[in-house]
Amino acid sequence: MRLSKFFVPTLKEIPNDAVVKSHILMLRSGMIKMISAGIYAFLPLGYRVIRKISEIIREEMNAIGGQEFHLPALNPKEIWEETNRVEAFGDTLFHVKNRDYVLAPTHEEIITYLARNVVKSYKDMPQIWYQIQTKFRNEPRPRSGVIRGRQFLMKDAYSLDSSWEGLDTAYDLHDKAYRKIFDRCGLKYFVVGASSGAMGGTGSEEFMVRSEAGEDTVAYCEHCGYAANVEVAVSNVSETGREQKSEDVKEISTPGVKSIDELCSFLKIKEDQCAKSRVYISEGKPVLVLMLGNEEVNETKLGKALGGNVRPAHPEELKELTGADAGSIGPIGFNGKIIADNRLTDANNLYSGANKNDFHLAGIDLKRDVKNITYSDLRNVQPGEKCIKCGNSLEVFSAIELGHIFKLGTKYSDSMNAKFLDENGKEQPIIMGSYGIGVERVMACYIEQHNDESGLVWDKTLAPFHVHLIGLNMKKDEIVQTCDKLYIEMNKKGIEVLYDDRVDAQAGFKFKDADLLGIPLQVIVGDKKLKENKVEVKIRKTGERFDVRIGELITRVEDELK
Ligand code: ATP
Ligand code: MG
Repeated sequence: MRLSKFFVPTLKEIPNDAVVKSHILMLRSGMIKMISAGIYAFLPLGYRVIRKISEIIREEMNAIGGQEFHLPALNPKEIWEETNRVEAFGDTLFHVKNRDYVLAPTHEEIITYLARNVVKSYKDMPQIWYQIQTKFRNEPRPRSGVIRGRQFLMKDAYSLDSSWEGLDTAYDLHDKAYRKIFDRCGLKYFVVGASSGAMGGTGSEEFMVRSEAGEDTVAYCEHCGYAANVEVAVSNVSETGREQKSEDVKEISTPGVKSIDELCSFLKIKEDQCAKSRVYISEGKPVLVLMLGNEEVNETKLGKALGGNVRPAHPEELKELTGADAGSIGPIGFNGKIIADNRLTDANNLYSGANKNDFHLAGIDLKRDVKNITYSDLRNVQPGEKCIKCGNSLEVFSAIELGHIFKLGTKYSDSMNAKFLDENGKEQPIIMGSYGIGVERVMACYIEQHNDESGLVWDKTLAPFHVHLIGLNMKKDEIVQTCDKLYIEMNKKGIEVLYDDRVDAQAGFKFKDADLLGIPLQVIVGDKKLKENKVEVKIRKTGERFDVRIGELITRVEDELK
């Protein structure tokens, strides 16, 4: 491709509405252009990458027996009403004005609708149906460029089986295919599994990458691969324990003391001698939650432990329930359920609020003084704590979901009445799985992981081109002739070349653009080297440069690209 004829509107400035690396670089390198919030145009350079990712996905999906479909994005609303998902998606679902259609945010309904009409017998299964197609979601906060768009490309696959073992097989096939896809793309990813995930063991895995653009926070162990959303993650931390002698409960005046930090400095005590109290409302009833020191309550864990939704009590409710304001609340005399974090198990000689403003109690013994207390893991894992599996140090960071595999079971076939006849001629619901990958996210996450201060840094697999051929002075005939010859030869060999044949651009400008686009190999044709019958090659990733005889260039390029 000749750059003089190729539409690559690179930008020198950092666009001010972009904060995330991949977003900035995709805009600067002329790969995408924003049309409206969460709606992007892929320009020719960017679309080449999308096509390469799609091709890898296709190859691996076909390798597990997937069959490629192309399903409509415009869906009759009545099909979506069968599963109640018009309501479930709410404002995220795009409706077509004045018509009973919706724009599909995913395709379980259409797949189940098709299956209901064509899959009649156990002999018609197993099936793996997939497509790579545009999805529409009215995301409330589209951001980070194509990472969270309102229109985006998804590879979505669905498995149809007549047995639960069949579903397990399909799920495992997808798990393996996903690993191959992300490995081939050159991504560093990790897998958050069902055992630690919020799905509760129904079989679900999320493929995640570390990214500042991520909206999930995960705890991750580099050593053994343990990974879990902080909402459910656990670590190996010790209990605060019990001292030999339990003191008597004693009231202490603590004027103006509200936080654990203030309490510690006022009484010259340590944080782990304090029990922080928080009041929640669960199913309309008050619950006092005790945490060690300054630790925060993990509301997902609390909700699970109490078996329902929870919300923090309002300040007026606190006063009414305890007689005190936040900062002076404690377990002694609290009228309601009391639950404490595991780290406080049977602890004694604790300090906590006295349920009386400006007073605290010392010498609290949870075993002796707090009847009917229960214990549960209610805390957030902190960076540096020990991994529950292998004991190495945990990291905690933001991450983004690249893909998701999920055992649906009969959820959709039940609600849409998609049945088949089993070996005994009995009607059974089709057993389903669903498997998604965000194609633009793969590209953005790759860029997040492969860049430097000058721009993008592609490996051969996803690179929009393999070689960036730079003619330094295109006013000189020898240079034009050499470049044209090399360009034609490389193309013949199947090497994808972006040829900077611009006549008016200065050398420095061309070099900057080449580094920004990050194509793996740069072949530089200039006056001086040409006199020795040589060209210069630069490896973008390492910055390494060397001269190559023109006659040996193709072989050398092929070697470097291997
Ligand atoms: P998220 O939690 O990030 O919103 P999701 O759980 O809604 O993702 P799924 O419904 O499982 O995502 O969709 C499958 C895949 O589609 C995701 O793993 C992700 O890679 C991609 N995806 C989802 N929403 C978007 C979006 N708004 N923009 C771009 N890609 C998306
Ligand atoms: Mg979502």
